[in-house]
Amino acid sequence: MQRYTDQYIGGAWRPSLASASVTVVDPATELALASVPAGGAPDVDAAVGAARAAARSWAATTREQRLVPLTRLRDGLAARQQEIAETITAELGCPIGFATAVQAAVPLAVADSYLGILAGYAFEERVGNSTVLAEPAGVVAAITPWNYPLHQIVAKVVPALAAGCTVVLKPAEDTPLVARLFARIVDEAGFPAGVFNLVTGLGPVAGAALAEHPQVDLVSFTGSTAVGREIAAAAGRGIKRVALELGGKSANVVLPGADLARAVNVNVGNVFNNSGQTCSAWTRLLVHEEQYEEAVALAAEAAGKYVPGDPASPRTRIGPVVSARQRERVRGYITGALAEGARLVVGGADAPEGLDQGFYVRPTVLADVTPEMTVAQEEVFGPVLSILRYRDEEHALEIANGTAYGLAGGVWAGDDASAAAFARRMDTGQVDINGGRFNPLAPFGGFKGSGVGRELGRHGLEEFLQPKSLQF
Ligand code: ADP
Repeated sequence: MQRYTDQYIGGAWRPSLASASVTVVDPATELALASVPAGGAPDVDAAVGAARAAARSWAATTREQRLVPLTRLRDGLAARQQEIAETITAELGCPIGFATAVQAAVPLAVADSYLGILAGYAFEERVGNSTVLAEPAGVVAAITPWNYPLHQIVAKVVPALAAGCTVVLKPAEDTPLVARLFARIVDEAGFPAGVFNLVTGLGPVAGAALAEHPQVDLVSFTGSTAVGREIAAAAGRGIKRVALELGGKSANVVLPGADLARAVNVNVGNVFNNSGQTCSAWTRLLVHEEQYEEAVALAAEAAGKYVPGDPASPRTRIGPVVSARQRERVRGYITGALAEGARLVVGGADAPEGLDQGFYVRPTVLADVTPEMTVAQEEVFGPVLSILRYRDEEHALEIANGTAYGLAGGVWAGDDASAAAFARRMDTGQVDINGGRFNPLAPFGGFKGSGVGRELGRHGLEEFLQPKSLQF
């Protein structure tokens, strides 16, 4: 087992000022993979100090100067795709196929997209007798979760650096190894010292110290709603800007006339990929009452293709969930849903057969779920799909909009125009029309309890900029 004792601060790997450590566990075997420092306030203070010291000169660089190390960072991500995927498979339990195609490839696409956006962005605009400058927001605290551990890092750090901000990253305690790999890639890219810093540690210790630090100008957080609320409160007290990507309970609405089989198949993959640990997953499938049983049968058949197994095998489609705590949480939601009257179609709260070790959960499909049930309101963050029935379009809309969240969604109809008309009435930040593809240039973020601010594309860059007006 590898024991790391350093943090990346001020352009170098330095011994952590903390003596405690965090053990990283392989969710498929429950064996320890490595340990990293459990940094505290002193490490955070050193990292923020380094970021502050570098802020003015990095902010004064031209886009051409920033594009040089950012392009090398992008090339580093491209060169290390396999190592990235293997690292994420080891510490998250994500199947290697999905880790390669999504966990490693999407951050590369996102980094690539920001090179183009930075190259073409208008940092100066003429408005009447004013010139409006887009200046960097300053020192950014990036606090990220474990479910798409590199994507969430890249979606914050790359636009922040492109904007001319300096960054301190506090990655999730469950997945710090890919964060360390990212720091090595940044180091090799040749950014000036202090522009990027990494502090590993526990959320309530290192994360809280970072979010509250008086020298941080902007906190960009992805994670649970409960922690997001704390971070927003701390940011409010310090008059810091904040961006929050929180939970979701997204609805996939299949209108009569849609390709039902395709809609259900895509939905099952959408929920079971990454073991359901996707904030934007369509965890509620809404089907018209006349097609309801047909949809349930289709979902049962599609779910049969997801047999939990070793994430290192290229044949495995679903691995374990990230931790014992997460497994217990997901099982609790399944048991609770059955107690509230849901029908178990496939799966269940018991451990999958033959898998006594590892944090495995049975891929589960629940039918007869009604909108007020806990499983239809709260984020499960596991491989659990709930199927709800609706009477007519108004009813479907009421159910779709009837949660505290509004992150993503899907609509399927006989034609794109009808699906889009329905999507316009949904209180949510992103909707896929008849299975529309992921677009790294499209803003991603939540309505209502799903968050504040947007990531990706031009909107994602602008989170890290602030306007300054000069009058002539
Ligand atoms: P999850 O439930 O997905 O683990 P969390 O919201 O707990 O999500 O964690 C997301 C990120 O927030 C992690 O990096 C975690 O360490 C950090 N975090 C957790 N608690 C706090 C806190 N009180 N203050 C700041 N960061 C925190």
